[in-house]
Amino acid sequence: MRRTFFLFLMLLTFGWLSAAKVVSPDGKLVFEIKVNQGEVLYEVLYEGETFVAPSALGLATSLGDFRKDLMLAKQSAVSLIEEHYALRTIKSSSVHYRAHEVIFSFNQDERHVFDLEVQVSNNDIAFRYKVYPQGETLVTRVFEEETTYVFPEGTSTFLSPQMEPMTAFARTAPSYETPYFPDGPVGKNGWGNGYVFPALFRIGDAGWVLISETGVDSRYAASRLLGKDDGSYKIGHPMEAENNGNGTVAPGIALPGYTPWRTLTVGTTLQPIVETTIPFDVVEEKYPASENYAFGKGSWSWIIKMDGHTTYETQKEYIDFSAAMGYSYVLVDALWDTQIGRDRIEELAAYAASKDVALFLWYNSNGYWNDAPQGPHGYMHQSSVRRPEMEWMQGIGVKGIKVDFFGGDKQVTMDVYESLLYDANDYGLMVIFHGTTLPRGWERMFPNFASSEAVLASEMLHFSQERCDEEAVQASMHPFIRNTVASMDFGGSALNQYYNANNTPGVGTQRKTSDVFALATAVLFQSPVQFFALAPNNMHDAPAWAIDFMKEVPSLWDEVRFIDGYPGRYAVLARRSGDQWYVAGINAGEETLQLELDPDLFVGAERLRLYSDDSGLKGSLKVQKMKPGSSLKVSVPKNGGFVLTQ
Ligand code: CA
Repeated sequence: MRRTFFLFLMLLTFGWLSAAKVVSPDGKLVFEIKVNQGEVLYEVLYEGETFVAPSALGLATSLGDFRKDLMLAKQSAVSLIEEHYALRTIKSSSVHYRAHEVIFSFNQDERHVFDLEVQVSNNDIAFRYKVYPQGETLVTRVFEEETTYVFPEGTSTFLSPQMEPMTAFARTAPSYETPYFPDGPVGKNGWGNGYVFPALFRIGDAGWVLISETGVDSRYAASRLLGKDDGSYKIGHPMEAENNGNGTVAPGIALPGYTPWRTLTVGTTLQPIVETTIPFDVVEEKYPASENYAFGKGSWSWIIKMDGHTTYETQKEYIDFSAAMGYSYVLVDALWDTQIGRDRIEELAAYAASKDVALFLWYNSNGYWNDAPQGPHGYMHQSSVRRPEMEWMQGIGVKGIKVDFFGGDKQVTMDVYESLLYDANDYGLMVIFHGTTLPRGWERMFPNFASSEAVLASEMLHFSQERCDEEAVQASMHPFIRNTVASMDFGGSALNQYYNANNTPGVGTQRKTSDVFALATAVLFQSPVQFFALAPNNMHDAPAWAIDFMKEVPSLWDEVRFIDGYPGRYAVLARRSGDQWYVAGINAGEETLQLELDPDLFVGAERLRLYSDDSGLKGSLKVQKMKPGSSLKVSVPKNGGFVLTQ
């Protein structure tokens, strides 16, 4: 069954030809263009306040330097874009996008060189460049993009540094596996290589701006954000050394052709940041789904038990565990090719099917881009080898793949992602990427795309006690930054107290967050396929209410709402699945959070379930009757959480 897709495009014309600006439908958000001595600048205002001060636009291409000597030749009339669309795998199952669009055309020496297409909805701006052919030249390379972001005085940052290429495990960086740092200053450049998207800025007391990009595929490279000494930020292309030096950092485009969309989400509160759908509003599905993909929940042994347990016996145990949890999947992680073997994988797939469970299989993406040694290796890097492999998987009932250790953000790597997704769709396979870039609009573009890591994920909790100690701080940022623009394969919600095969005290890293915190992140962190870090021993060593909750928690949601929070301190939001709301929160702050929740979401409910922690992080489930007019109070200690649901 194809995704239900409604498109109503209405073009209405207004008479705003004089001012070079685009105003949101509600009149509050303004994107203004100015040309100053041949240089193009833009500015962003919300309710009359400056959120982005005059900032440069333009491109340096093989056709010419389109950063100077520019003239605004014409601008289109204002169009109203009105679209209703279904978005099955992230944020909101039914989206209404409403924006004003203006196209600004720029000339250089009387040649039409590029357009800037600008869409402004009530809290979002998306713009992209459209580059035109010159004479018989029908292709170009973009050497540099001048798009700059200058913020007003008093701005603080919530950014994650870009990694140094060809460093970290087996030279697999950059892989978007660095922390976000809350409340940072402007004027830095991360660890020397800028920052990854998305990037959040607090504009003093005025509000917030989230910057990202979307619509990135094989037609371009993925970008990063470079920080300058003067406090401004600028779009940066990938670094030369990425992908082991192979491939260009200057993307090539056929003309007329586009850059990806640059997006800014603007609000006086964090609500528009949490609820934005702009990464998906301005992109299109690139191919139809070959089947009605059954996104859902699963278990995986690797996160707790590591490489040595990718064995037939352990995977069989996890199939039984997934079946007992009512989960659809088991992810068989790295090294299955040598430690289990193809014949026994076929046996496992058949055993899983007998339990109503299906397998996801892990693959190394290489290829020739880094030294990641784990097998299976050499099956996913090109179409001619992966298609027979995918056909084999389809034949034995495998439903998805997790492909790891990609080579960076160059256009050549974007082509690997896109062609891999396209091939996988032909064989009914959902795809998860690890050791990977941020997905940019892919939930809508690629119907079999499930999720990407691109976060300091649960594996780092296994590897590092410091990460366990800091777990709540990072977790409190994801709903506002990383996870708000794309699905996030965090692989978490562990109920083991210790990250080791038998949950033995004192062995390996120790989880500092509560069981209720683990439940809350199953709601706060979104991925349509969730491989939770649960283990079969949790059936007897975790509280029954926690296991019951992990059985029922959805992985597909119909709506998300911001409730409260501050990145780095605490996060509270609500998600709806059908008629049922789940309000979830976590606290990273030293002080116990005292929340009074609005009961409006639960009107009509006779009873509510509250999962919460006492001051010693001991969790419990309380079922309470709803009394008209009563407020809902909950306290959340540091490293604790809560979930409230019908
Ligand atoms: Ca990883």
